Amino acid sequence: MPTSHDGLHLTGFALTPGRQRSWWLRDALANDAGAECPALRMDAKADVVIVGGGFSGLWTAYFLHERNPDLGIVVLEQDICGGGPSGRNGGFASGWWDELHGLVALYGAEAAVRACRAIKSSIRTIGEFCSTNGIDAWYRRAGYMYAITAEANERARDEMVALARQVGAPEELVELSPAEVQARCASPAFGGGAFMGDGASVQPARLARGLRRLVLERGVTVHEATPVIRLEGTTAVTPNGRVEAAQAVLAVNAWGIGWPQLSRKLVAWSSYIVLTAPAPDRLREIGWTGGELVTDFRTSLRYFRTTPDGRIAFGGGGGRARRTVDDMFTHDSRAVAETAEGFRLMFPSFSDVPIEDAWGGPIDVSPTHLPTFGRLGDSKIFYAAGYTGNGVAPSHVAGQALADLITGADTDIVRLPMVNARSMTFPPEPFRSWGAAVVRRAMIEKETAEEHGRRPSFLASQLARTPRRMGYFLGSD
Ligand SMILES: Cc1cc2nc3c(=O)[nH]c(=O)nc-3n(C[C@H](O)[C@H](O)[C@H](O)COP(=O)(O)OP(=O)(O)OC[C@H]3O[C@@H](n4cnc5c(N)ncnc54)[C@H](O)[C@@H]3O)c2cc1C
Repeated sequence: MPTSHDGLHLTGFALTPGRQRSWWLRDALANDAGAECPALRMDAKADVVIVGGGFSGLWTAYFLHERNPDLGIVVLEQDICGGGPSGRNGGFASGWWDELHGLVALYGAEAAVRACRAIKSSIRTIGEFCSTNGIDAWYRRAGYMYAITAEANERARDEMVALARQVGAPEELVELSPAEVQARCASPAFGGGAFMGDGASVQPARLARGLRRLVLERGVTVHEATPVIRLEGTTAVTPNGRVEAAQAVLAVNAWGIGWPQLSRKLVAWSSYIVLTAPAPDRLREIGWTGGELVTDFRTSLRYFRTTPDGRIAFGGGGGRARRTVDDMFTHDSRAVAETAEGFRLMFPSFSDVPIEDAWGGPIDVSPTHLPTFGRLGDSKIFYAAGYTGNGVAPSHVAGQALADLITGADTDIVRLPMVNARSMTFPPEPFRSWGAAVVRRAMIEKETAEEHGRRPSFLASQLARTPRRMGYFLGSD
């Protein structure tokens, strides 16, 4: 039975986030638990060892096998494949036309457009991959709508749309009038907006587990429940065995903050999702039957989508930044309550629809708001990191890029600007995690005030602008 908490209709689970796996992953495991992948218990050898069994690690394994079926590939995952954010995220496979500001500033217009087109191709290919390989990941390519929820967002929308026009891709990101927004998804909180055709929803855990099945079928060795303690050169050291390999891949997402090779490239922020009970009639009442992905314009983004059985999965920034990936990324009731508040604000007509589930996870935030994929120095260690909460489609590009770099293939993918790009870095600890935590809270405070038509406090406004002033592509303008 639904119970009430702070005026929110939440069930028992939602009050204790982290007590069980995400709803997506429970559904995926119930649909197909897959073959056992026992923990590593002896020393082994491989051509390539991959640390992390999320989208980045699994796509890399998949494409490596495709490039060279003779390679010995071992994936080591501390949990189960898809147990991290790949099996917990919003399932937005979304384009990069809204990232043009950073892409153009970093790489120039021509390279920026190539990057956007690579992501576009991945969004399409993920759908084809699912249908070819019998992966029922609920793939639906219905586009991505931005909705304005505060006056301050209008300038951001105008700039975003203007930039797509300036790089010669006006059709990729178009302005929507308030009436056009309401026609796609009616909410008293929404003004006008923008629409990006590059957007598909997936059930992310079904995709991750489907990928796991595919790589196993192709002969990749996967060990779950196998944490990698460190890399010694390209040898992965785990509690009960070592994997000696010629090349290694770090595909550890936000856990990278604990790896010396990656820590200065990242901070970890939390994000949480609440999931309603099925309410298909209510979705029909607000006209949200097209399956569009929707977000607002906050930098502490709120993102929401529907499911085939008529639920809304509604995500929001958890507002926490930490020095290690700890329970605060999964067990934060305050973050769940804040996310649920955002949902109630945007969908008042769902006030009696219970929230049945809630879960969270860490996001690997990069200084540029964009990921990079490549080789660490002149070592034989490769990495993909810095997705900043947008890794579903980009990890498909990352897998191809890393497979091409490892096998020495000279392809268009390795010439994309985010491949072997020079990374910006964050300040060292303790300033990094402390600064990230303070700025994150300030951003949420500032944007919440603006959303309610209030003037944000001077302190919150200044703090929220700090990252931009330091040259990062994060925070408020
Ligand atoms: C709540 C939430 C919502 C999100 N929504 C979206 C969205 O809608 N769209 C989108 O594009 N992106 C979204 N993201 C981000 C997206 O989930 C990630 O960018 C993407 O999953 C990255 O894939 P990955 O394989 O790099 O990381 P992960 O899925 O995190 O995989 C990394 C794996 O490495 C494992 N690992 C870590 N350390 C070790 C170690 N020492 N030894 C062995 N294994 C280790 C972890 O257990 C984990 O399984 C969201 C993230 C969160 C948390």
